Parts: sequence; structure tokens; C-alpha cells
Amino acid sequence: MRQAAGSEQQTIVSSENSSDDGQDDGQQVWDVVVVGAGPAGASAAYAAAVAGRRVLLLEKAELPRYKTCGGGIIGPTRDALPPGFELPFRDRVHAVTFSLEGKFTRTRRSKQMLFGLINRPEFDQQLVEHAQKAGAELRTGATVSRVEQHGSAVPDRRSVAVVLQDGETLLARAVVGADGSASRIGAHVGVKLDQVDLGLEAEIPVPETVAEDWKGRVLIDWGPLPGSYGWVFPKGDTLTVGVISARGEGAATKRYLEDFIARLGLAGFEPSISSGHLTRCRADDSPLSRGRVLVCGDAAGLLEPWTREGISFALRSGRLAGEWAVRIAEAHDAVDTRRQALNYAFAIKAGLGVEMSIGRRMLTIFERRPGVFHAALTGFRPAWKAFAGITRGSTSLGDMVRSHPMAERALSRIDR
Ligand SMILES: Cc1cc2nc3c(=O)[nH]c(=O)nc-3n(C[C@H](O)[C@H](O)[C@H](O)COP(=O)(O)OP(=O)(O)OC[C@H]3O[C@@H](n4cnc5c(N)ncnc54)[C@H](O)[C@@H]3O)c2cc1C
Repeated sequence: MRQAAGSEQQTIVSSENSSDDGQDDGQQVWDVVVVGAGPAGASAAYAAAVAGRRVLLLEKAELPRYKTCGGGIIGPTRDALPPGFELPFRDRVHAVTFSLEGKFTRTRRSKQMLFGLINRPEFDQQLVEHAQKAGAELRTGATVSRVEQHGSAVPDRRSVAVVLQDGETLLARAVVGADGSASRIGAHVGVKLDQVDLGLEAEIPVPETVAEDWKGRVLIDWGPLPGSYGWVFPKGDTLTVGVISARGEGAATKRYLEDFIARLGLAGFEPSISSGHLTRCRADDSPLSRGRVLVCGDAAGLLEPWTREGISFALRSGRLAGEWAVRIAEAHDAVDTRRQALNYAFAIKAGLGVEMSIGRRMLTIFERRPGVFHAALTGFRPAWKAFAGITRGSTSLGDMVRSHPMAERALSRIDR
């Protein structure tokens, strides 16, 4: 591991077990410990490591690990990748077929690529390797049980104790919680949620003729449950087929996926993986830190509420968390720590927070009138162009509402 300039190799010696020369029993203190090696954690570890700090990335699974996810990579995700990162695309999307509960099907095409599709195990591992190249140390098979900021495990007020499931305790100047939607670090911070959804997915290997039919084209189906939708994302010889809907409708969501797969003529193919995962959106007033602990990505409830796109949110919030964790690691007192944590919250709210609030409005409208969305995207060219621009990253929902008073008026009118 690289020991970069400006990094302090620190040793804490507790008063009970220090030897006379004060050296042998010392425990290493990391500048930044990151919990969870998904896109948020890898991005945080990368940002703190390129700043020259001693960074430890803890992951409970062995890598590469599977993650229930469509693997859709839109423009903002691409733009948030670390320099030199080569996206391992499994397909490039040039056409979208839209349907409304399986009816009124229409395909829209684009000469330019709209977005790309990756397999998460491969993509996530590559991100972690980037963080390692920047100097972060990785430990897999390390499940974090809790963090402590007071008490006997914490030798001084500048340290956080990270307690692993096997009882081992690690020390850090700052901790980034990037441990996904069932986050333990999020619970420590007190993350409050506004919206929780259940996503169900099947990875379906298909014969070459079927794969050829889907190549370069995705399907998006506006579903039967309020705010639900389904997708087919082709990745070479495998189709990722999934649906998402509000949590609490588990049986109906499962039925939607089964019907969706049957309707597409894919029921005869055995999925290689069937899985489910929750997505969570933070409440507006939810904390993003507590003391020397920051949260990012799904752990913080940072996700686009309408599409439930979360990889760009994870990468962007992870990078900010890594940068601010570096400053917190350097903070010498509670006032400075608080100031840096507030700056992190401000950066998140000014960017991703604004995008989330527009996404929330879109979801409310979509829940009430999925047919209007479908009609607009399939029959109204400016709506399709806006969709294409957003997926490519040449514009965002926020930019559109800000720069087109008509879009704001249209949203407000439909809101009413
Ligand atoms: C069905 C579905 C489809 C989706 N499709 C898309 C899509 O197409 N495009 C998109 O942009 N987003 C999509 N998302 C959202 C996206 O998957 C998430 O927002 C994204 O994975 C968040 O990244 P993360 O790094 O915050 O969390 P994760 O990717 O969940 O990573 C968290 C990591 O923390 C580890 N971990 C957890 N607990 C501990 C612990 N206690 N100790 C140590 N390690 C721990 C986990 O093993 C995991 O590796 C989808 C979500 C779902 C559910």
C-alpha cells in the first residue's frame, strides 16, 4: 500500500497497556475507514486515497459480489467515474421500447447512444481496483457490526472505533458509511427515510436468437401498481428483467414480475439468479453525519426517487464523502468536525438534494398519471428528446426545470 505525502502514520497507545517505551502495544489509526465496497464506498475510498490519506475499505462479501441492479449507466454516472476508468459495457442502448402494462407498445430509436449497461460484479470490482491503485487498502470478508464514538473502545476524542463482527476493533479519524440500503452506519447516524421501494430482478440467460432481438434495445413498462415500472436490460447472452414498486406490496410486486416475464415470452428460460433488494430515499431533513461519521449512497438514502437510479448518486456522494472525511480526519476539535460535516451536508443538498426533490415531484405525478407519461414519451417528440438528453447526460431534470419556465409550469399544472 502506498504511504502518500501528507499522510500521518499514527499510533495510539492506550494508558492501560502501554509499555515503558510506549511502542509495542500501539494500535494503528486509519485516517479514513470506509464501510462497504459498492460504488459509493469505492468512490469515497478513491477520493480519500488520492488526497494521500491512509484509507481502509471494509467489505463484508468476497469480491466480485452480486448486487441486484439493472446496471444502467446514464450520463451523470459516466461523468462521476474516476479518471481513466474504462466502463465494462455489456451493451450500448440505442432504442427504447415503452409499454403501459404491456399495452400501447412503441419503440423510439436514437442514432447516438442513450446509455450503457454493465454487470455490477464486474463494474464494482473495477471501481474497487481503482481505489486500491490510488492507495486504499481493501479488506473483504469484514462485516462491520457497529461504530462507537464514545466509551472504552475509543482512546481519544479524535477517534472512532469500528467494531467488526468477530470482535476486532479498528480505529479511524473519520468513517464513511457506504454499506447500502440496510446500512448499520446509517442507523448510527439516524438516517430518516421518506420512501422505501422493493426491486425484484431475474438474470435470464437466453439463446442467441433471443439475445439478438434485444441487442441495443431496452424495454420500459409502466406498471400496474402506483409508481411501479419494469425493465428488460440486455447484456449479451443474459437479459436482466426487473420490476420496482413501493415496499409493502410484496406479493403484488412478485406477481407483476411473473406476468411481465410471461408476457415477454421469457417464462420458458430458467433464471440464473432471482433476487430482491430495497431502495431507500432520505427524508429532506435526514442527517448525513454524526460526529466523525459520514454516510453516502444508499446508506444515506441518496437515490433518484422516480427512476430509482442510484449508481450516479452513489458515485457522486461517495466522492464528496471521501473528500470531506479527509477534512474531518484533520479536524482537531468538535467545532471543526461539525463545520466540515455541515459543509458535506451542504454540498450534498445543493446538488443531489435538488435532483431528489424534482424526482419526488415526478414520481407523484407519475403515480397519478402513468398514462400521461407514456403518451408524452411515445407521442410527443420534445418529451422523448428530454428523456434522451437526460439519459445521455447532456441535460438533467433540474436543468430542464430551471432553464425552461414552461417545464416548471407544466410540472406545477400537473401537480395540481
Ligand atoms: C432492482 C434494482 C435495480 C436497480 N437498477 C439500477 C440501475 O439500473 N441504475 C442505477 O444507477 N441504479 C440502479 N439501482 C440502484 C443501485 O443499485 C444502488 O443505488 C447502488 O447500488 C448504491 O450503491 P452503494 O455503493 O450505495 O450501495 P451497494 O451497491 O449496496 O454497496 C454496499 C456494499 O456494502 C457492503 N456492506 C453492507 N453491509 C456491510 C457491513 N455491515 N460491513 C461491511 N460491508 C457491508 C455490501 O456487501 C455492499 O458491497 C437499482 C436498485 C435496485 C434494487
